Amino acid sequence: MKIAVAKETREGESRVAMVPELVEKLTGLGYDVLVEPGAGHRADYDDHLYAEAGAVVTDDALGEADVVVGINPLSPDRVRRLRDGAAMMSFLPVNTSHDLVVDLRDLNLTAFAMELVPRISRAQSMDALSSQALVSGYRCAIVAAGLLRRFFPLNMTAAGTVQPAQVVVLGAGVAGLQAIATAKRLGAVVQAYDVRAAAAEEIRSMGAKSIDLDLETLEGSGGYAREMTEDRADRQRDLLAPYIADADALITTAAVPGRTAPMLVTSAMVEQMKPGSVVVDLAAESGGNVEGSVAGKVVRIGHASVWGGENVPSQMPGPASKLYAQNIVNLLTLMTSEGEFAPDFEDEVVAGSCVTHAGRILHEPTREAIEGLSTVAEPSPVVEPVETTPPGPSTDDQLDLPFDQEADS
Ligand code: NAD
Repeated sequence: MKIAVAKETREGESRVAMVPELVEKLTGLGYDVLVEPGAGHRADYDDHLYAEAGAVVTDDALGEADVVVGINPLSPDRVRRLRDGAAMMSFLPVNTSHDLVVDLRDLNLTAFAMELVPRISRAQSMDALSSQALVSGYRCAIVAAGLLRRFFPLNMTAAGTVQPAQVVVLGAGVAGLQAIATAKRLGAVVQAYDVRAAAAEEIRSMGAKSIDLDLETLEGSGGYAREMTEDRADRQRDLLAPYIADADALITTAAVPGRTAPMLVTSAMVEQMKPGSVVVDLAAESGGNVEGSVAGKVVRIGHASVWGGENVPSQMPGPASKLYAQNIVNLLTLMTSEGEFAPDFEDEVVAGSCVTHAGRILHEPTREAIEGLSTVAEPSPVVEPVETTPPGPSTDDQLDLPFDQEADS
């Protein structure tokens, strides 16, 4: 069985789905590993490193593969180079990829979407949303510290005392908690807010102050947040305004699955911030938590510099690729039996993450959106996640992910 590592073709993508040091894990499972030339180049993994690790670097990788791994889905022309019955494992935003899903179905390809891996305890080591959010959260705090033209920590010197920076984080999921932890490590005074009730304790466990707005909490299904009503959003913005006006740096990471990011901060609120203040909007690409932020750009609003995140994990391609590759190894391990790629569609992780297989669309919401309600032939194997665990680390020690353990699990 052959696994191909695709060279990413999306503009601005620097990550790669497999790193040389994990090639051995795949050969250990019984696979031959093929790598498209230059696949790891932008993440600082040159071809010779893959070759030394036991992979074959070849232009024909896609055409020979039983399984192709990537960060982003293959483009339609490259999908057509795959063998009949081959499998593809990558992020695959099904809501915005209907044409590609139809191609995958009609070409008899099996496609797994990394963002559909159920967020259950057993699948934590395969959860690429979490691993990439961890990178994003760290990067957001570092960007804020870099843009801010003052210290993050308290400095008591012979020349006098410099007060620490005041940082506010909105949204305390995986990325937000990592941003909080990083800003704390840099010495800032951090306050954070999230609409989920469980988040307050998680914020405090990072050593930050949880902002209590005395508003009802908004839990949706699967431990995620629910969308706000316009009235709730207005009240939340009013109550948050003084915290934001006092902040030196504001970091926003709020999201609601399947929806445009909630607009938490108006440009009028940013205009109340002090001269030299900084705003980092991780959600800029998906609608923005901050009015006026632009993905991939730093814009000026009032006295503040507003940084809009664009493919943020790709800005730290080495660690982001390594964590993602570990997720892939763990998912492949689950789907491998005696050296063969043999996904068990009775397994909820396999069934939940599969989009197409054997000429059918298995992800029911996508099938319905593409084929309509009337063409249901048999029940979908998609299983809803039943068990959730807290998002990401809860103590400082756990923040440094144990790479080897993850890949081994
Ligand atoms: P996300 O990226 O969807 O959202 C980021 C954060 O934004 C969330 O904490 C959300 O509550 C918050 N948010 C949404 N609307 C907001 C608003 N109006 N104001 C302030 N904050 C707002 O979430 P995520 O980081 O992917 O994960 C969050 C949840 O996912 C966790 O609670 C957890 O239950 C679940 N999770 C489970 C696992 C696992 O079991 N393996 C792993 C990671 C996350």
